[in-house]
Amino acid sequence: MNYFVILAAGKGNRFISKIPKQYTNYNGKKMIFHSIDKALKSNLFRKVILVINPKDKQYLRNLKNNKIKIISGGKERMDSSLKALNFIKKYKPKKVFIHDAARPDFSIHLLKKINKFNLSDAIVPYLTSDNSAKYKDKTKISNLKRENVYLTQTPQCFKFNTIYKLAKKNKKKITDESSLFLNNNLKVKFIKGEITNKKITYLNDFVNNKISYGIGFDVHRLVPKRKLYLGGLKIQSKIGTLGHSDGDPVLHAITDSILGACKLGDIGEKFSDQKNKFKNIRSTVLLKNIINIIKSKGYLINNIDINIITETPKIKNYKKKMINIISKLCDISINQINIKGKTTEKLGIIGKEKAIACEVITSVIKNA
Ligand code: ZN
Repeated sequence: MNYFVILAAGKGNRFISKIPKQYTNYNGKKMIFHSIDKALKSNLFRKVILVINPKDKQYLRNLKNNKIKIISGGKERMDSSLKALNFIKKYKPKKVFIHDAARPDFSIHLLKKINKFNLSDAIVPYLTSDNSAKYKDKTKISNLKRENVYLTQTPQCFKFNTIYKLAKKNKKKITDESSLFLNNNLKVKFIKGEITNKKITYLNDFVNNKISYGIGFDVHRLVPKRKLYLGGLKIQSKIGTLGHSDGDPVLHAITDSILGACKLGDIGEKFSDQKNKFKNIRSTVLLKNIINIIKSKGYLINNIDINIITETPKIKNYKKKMINIISKLCDISINQINIKGKTTEKLGIIGKEKAIACEVITSVIKNA
């Protein structure tokens, strides 16, 4: 019987959110599920083995299928694939397919085509390059014949006994398992791959995802005997903001900009200041609530840019802490957030320390 191994333990680039790319929503479902579903649907495999980083277990919580086994991967790709081979050894497999979770767009037809080749030790789909190819060796760059450049894809299929032997004794880093065969001068059968079967590497690969932008603005009066919350951070101050909630203009402007980007109205509609249940509520609770709503609708935050306009306090002293809090609230990484502190040169009510204002622009990506 055959086994299908999906390598998904890599950290990869987390280009949209803190979620690793293989668990990011891609064309309607988590990227890894495209591979899982096709492997199951093909009826070619007795078991589908997911090799993951144990930290990512949460993303597979709802996965219940006795054909699927989840195991922990290793540090490098070669460690992960060896762990998978060790795991399936007890089933005495004939063939094993090894596949990258970052290639969700292969077809079931390709699986069947690969499966038809019975005798080869290694079957690997490949494409030739459309671009002219050069090869750099130390300082010398030479021309390569384009049609002789093989760009290999996964899934790749191997005779279990052969690859297991090779993987056990391998000490070198590899980028795909067919390298083990080539490194040992063993024959690999190359078959035509699929143009659509590309590796999802960059943000642009999410072709069906559209970016949209939202703007937010808020201002609160500064009065004595009120607490001062900015960006979710409590700041020691003799004056604080007046407001129905905790009066955090930064979180309110962020919330509004997110709602704007997702075309979901505004903060006043969602949390009316006429309602007692929102009296003195922490704005962190409101923002978290909105984040859950936009996530359930398939939106991901791309970046948030914030201007805090105030004479006092000096924003630069609190920037880092605020960014940390906002990144946790929005479930994004700190490098997706930017804060700028501005004054109004002592002009107007902000200049006279009677008010504090904040403006924000957020961009979001909607998954198809
Ligand atoms: Zn407000």
